[in-house]
Amino acid sequence: MTAIDEGRNFLASVDHYFNKAAAVSNHPTGLLSQIRACNSVVSFNFPVRVDGGFEVIQAWRAEHSNHKLPVKGGIRYSENASVDEVIALATLMTYKCAIVDVPFGGAKGAVKIDAKKYSADTLERITRRYTHELIKKNFIGPAIDVPAPDYGTGAREMAWIADTYLAMHPEQIDALGCVTGKSVPQGGIRGRKEATGLGVFYGTREICDSAEDMQALGMTRGLAGKTFVIQGLGNVGYHAAKFFTEGGAVLVGVSEFEGSIHDPNGIDLEKLMAHRKETGSILDLAGAQNLASREAGLEIECDILIPAALENQITEENAQRISAKMVVEAANGPVTSGAEAILQQKGIMVVPDIYINAGGVTVSYFEWLKNLSHVRFGRMEKRFEQGAFERLLDIVEKETGRKLSEDERRVVARGADEADLVYSGLEETMITAYHELRETAKRDGVDNLRTAAFLTAIDKIAVSYMELGVFP
Ligand code: NAD
Repeated sequence: MTAIDEGRNFLASVDHYFNKAAAVSNHPTGLLSQIRACNSVVSFNFPVRVDGGFEVIQAWRAEHSNHKLPVKGGIRYSENASVDEVIALATLMTYKCAIVDVPFGGAKGAVKIDAKKYSADTLERITRRYTHELIKKNFIGPAIDVPAPDYGTGAREMAWIADTYLAMHPEQIDALGCVTGKSVPQGGIRGRKEATGLGVFYGTREICDSAEDMQALGMTRGLAGKTFVIQGLGNVGYHAAKFFTEGGAVLVGVSEFEGSIHDPNGIDLEKLMAHRKETGSILDLAGAQNLASREAGLEIECDILIPAALENQITEENAQRISAKMVVEAANGPVTSGAEAILQQKGIMVVPDIYINAGGVTVSYFEWLKNLSHVRFGRMEKRFEQGAFERLLDIVEKETGRKLSEDERRVVARGADEADLVYSGLEETMITAYHELRETAKRDGVDNLRTAAFLTAIDKIAVSYMELGVFP
């Protein structure tokens, strides 16, 4: 299948999910059409100097819904990018923001390159030129459209985007809020890098704590002891695996670009990362078995399968062979709509991307707030809080006549710093959103978390449109 077909299928899957939820909702058809429509897409072809010659680079930015501003969504560097893929991803961003109560519309951008083929110098030129094109079209700005990292991009690219925007807008005091996912010294926030993986962990842990959900899947409560498989050990996949392992779950399989490995006794994540750094591959890890292909990793028997690479990974072709009890969509769109029907028939729970990978945009929102307020979270209150707890402990000691140890004091008498607040805000967001989805599912008699997630998002966006009215 070509990249163009893949993009088209992805968009068709997103439309299918929307229509399924829209059919259950009781909003007027015209309003639903407005919510579904992608508001604007801009496409670029720009030249970049490469090895003494020129190359024409193709790129896009889609703003799916302007019902809230700014719009927000990552920028992807992928040779398989297509306009339909960008629209599908921008669409998911709109619903994702609504589900986790992030007051943004949805957007997404893509540059059609294989980032691995270019030097850092060339990537910087491509990134700066793309940013300049976005500025010319008014598709970037702290109040307009705020990109973030996605597949193939990270803090380095975000710093180049911020620097280009700042160079063109030296008079804008909030200019740094034009992009999120920056490194901390460049105005980023502690906790952003791991945010998506951490959100996947908080959300899955909450589901696993629900006796009702676990009973339906024939599993006991709690994440600890559950086996899991990761597809894609990039930013999202690595961090999800790290927090799952720290939470007591057991990593039994990994699928990466070069192939997949399996060890039912558990894979040590840090040993695997060191092995990959040394050899350039996850294969041939001591104690683990190499599987025949990278796709084979998805079929390993486990409790939780976490696709964290790309869309269209579980399709009608392989869905029947998936033997996990839960599929947690850390990536965007890894399960096609045809595959989802098969998984549901097999009694497998699919935790949808628009909920479970919303940790990234949630912490991006915190970063944007930090940029607008020009102060690190916790800076004003940390010492004050610590002092208040110290005074409270003094009273406890006086009243009980017991002297607390240094360790006991250290645990209680501390103020929250930026990372504590970001983790706490993310945990609260993921837990609250999950319970909202469950309530919607119960209220509307929906037996599928994705439909419940789309319904929740549609309801919130519909209220927004109805209260705002239509201009002019
Ligand atoms: P990344 O580039 O850091 O990592 C992707 C990993 O997947 C890489 O290690 C790559 O080698 C691997 N991979 C690619 N094709 C594969 C295949 N066929 N089989 C197995 N492994 C394969 O990207 P990321 O930022 O971790 O994003 C991964 C997914 O998560 C994407 O769908 C992205 O849209 C989604 N997502 C990312 C964020 C974020 O904050 N970065 C937020 C929400 C959703």
